[in-house]
Amino acid sequence: MRVSKILQGELATEYKTVSAMMEIYCQKNHGIKGGLCDSCSELLIYAETKLDRCPYGQEKPTCNNCPIHCYKPEPKEDMRLIMRYSGPRMLFKHPILAIRHLRHEKREVPNQPKKQASNRHNRMKAMREKS
Ligand SMILES: [Zn+2]
Repeated sequence: MRVSKILQGELATEYKTVSAMMEIYCQKNHGIKGGLCDSCSELLIYAETKLDRCPYGQEKPTCNNCPIHCYKPEPKEDMRLIMRYSGPRMLFKHPILAIRHLRHEKREVPNQPKKQASNRHNRMKAMREKS
């Protein structure tokens, strides 16, 4: 499981969940133990960028329920396969993350993202305030 250096709160947890799911998939399908192959690492970086830029920010719905389609077709399909394979296996490997995600799945989707709610926006703001 990996930890993001840029994501906060719920989005950081979501990143952990995605990385754990990718590790399960990569081990079985690409033969990498306790890590990710190059193409999975690349996909995880892509996922992190999308989480960072998600306009919902901390109120982000699960990707399944999200009305915004921010993934390009190819990474979207790769991620769909990973989720389908690893979803049921997560309950055994990472029950807390899995249950959190299942509960999250039932939460209502906010109508509209709030203004300037993205992790990226807050990150940039914090950086500006520091300097
Ligand atoms: Zn892989």
